[in-house]
Amino acid sequence: MARGGQKWSSGESGGRAEEQEAEEAGGAKMVKETEYYDILGVKPSASPEEIKKAYRKLALRYHPDKNPDEGEKFKLISQAYEVLSDPKKRDIYDQGGEQAIKEGGSGSPSFSSPMDIFDMFFGGGGRMARERRGKNVVHQLSVTLEDLYNGVTKKLALQKNVICEKCEGVGGKKGSVEKCPLCKGRGMQVHVQQVGPGLVQQIQTVCTECKGRGERIHPKDRCEGCGGAKVVREKKIIEVHVEKGMKDGQKILFHGEGDQEPELEPGDVIIVLDQKDHSVFQRRGHDLIIKMKIQLSEALCGFKKTIKTLDDRILVITSKSGEVIKHGDLKCVRNEGMPIYKAPLEKGTLVIQFLVIFPEKHWLSPEKLPQLEALLPPRQKVRVTEDMDQVELKEFSPSEQNWRQHREAYEEDDDGPRAGVQCQTA
Ligand SMILES: [Zn+2]
Ligand SMILES: [Zn+2]
Repeated sequence: MARGGQKWSSGESGGRAEEQEAEEAGGAKMVKETEYYDILGVKPSASPEEIKKAYRKLALRYHPDKNPDEGEKFKLISQAYEVLSDPKKRDIYDQGGEQAIKEGGSGSPSFSSPMDIFDMFFGGGGRMARERRGKNVVHQLSVTLEDLYNGVTKKLALQKNVICEKCEGVGGKKGSVEKCPLCKGRGMQVHVQQVGPGLVQQIQTVCTECKGRGERIHPKDRCEGCGGAKVVREKKIIEVHVEKGMKDGQKILFHGEGDQEPELEPGDVIIVLDQKDHSVFQRRGHDLIIKMKIQLSEALCGFKKTIKTLDDRILVITSKSGEVIKHGDLKCVRNEGMPIYKAPLEKGTLVIQFLVIFPEKHWLSPEKLPQLEALLPPRQKVRVTEDMDQVELKEFSPSEQNWRQHREAYEEDDDGPRAGVQCQTA
């Protein structure tokens, strides 16, 4: 089954105003469970891009750096993303749910560490790199489509760890650092526990005295500036240059501007662009898509329309004489799409999708209908005979009924959803 996407390119869906809704119902996908989708706040029919975007937002919001109490939530988000971002795992999950994921494939129910997923996603370099370098600081920067079209410089204030100036990163007076007396410098404590008669178990835990560092500073020798932590939190303003043509999710790297730690190379600051939805334009790669409503008279007899661009110019578009625009038709204006990143003089395409507004019921008095008919292409005549059944034509809402019936059909039999729309028999 198709996975969402291609929403704007459906020209054949006929004269319906609630097209968006109908398409969503049509694209509804049958899955065994929706929990992972719910965690990320997306529909089971979500495209890979939508899943990526949802993960990006949630991972940044619930990252332990920003939300230390939400570790469990951060883990769940990572697990859901790990499964749904992999087409193979996603298929297994869709068909068999979480159970199938845990049993599936290699037989190992293990998930990657949430931090590794996060680092992979944001390009932090993984665990190895993290041990030799300070932590990367990832921030989301909200931008408008206008910002990405015109380019903009934004100032961002962020908190980061810097080496304490007072003690130069020692944490106390020179020579005050001593080997931790509790763990003897190993950073780990070993506890021996009796678990049965004659049976003992060794448990290793991170040393409580030195928090795993293996060294400590006597309380009276600790630096007043950092309290022995060697680093202090500092506010720093960075200028982010958003260039023309950059896109949602793009990363801007500030090398070495991340957290500092003694004896380590500082990490990076990674700014992730987050584009707000635009009320008029939708972006697709280098192209911009706009939906334009036109009256039936304009669709049949021609029109002149204006479009305000993202840099405040006014474009005038005119349909050619004799042209007929159908509902859903796509037309385009070359070189009026998004500027191309690093080559901003070139632009993509502006795609216009026409939505034809049909007149309301009884808009024309019945005696005038023959006049209109005389101008329009002739209608098809049907000869009704005795053996045919006259039936009543009723309103049908696909957005609701279609979905419910799919669901019922699915729950009844295991062969999966029945294809197509079934008309309710009253
Ligand atoms: Zn210790
Ligand atoms: Zn200090």
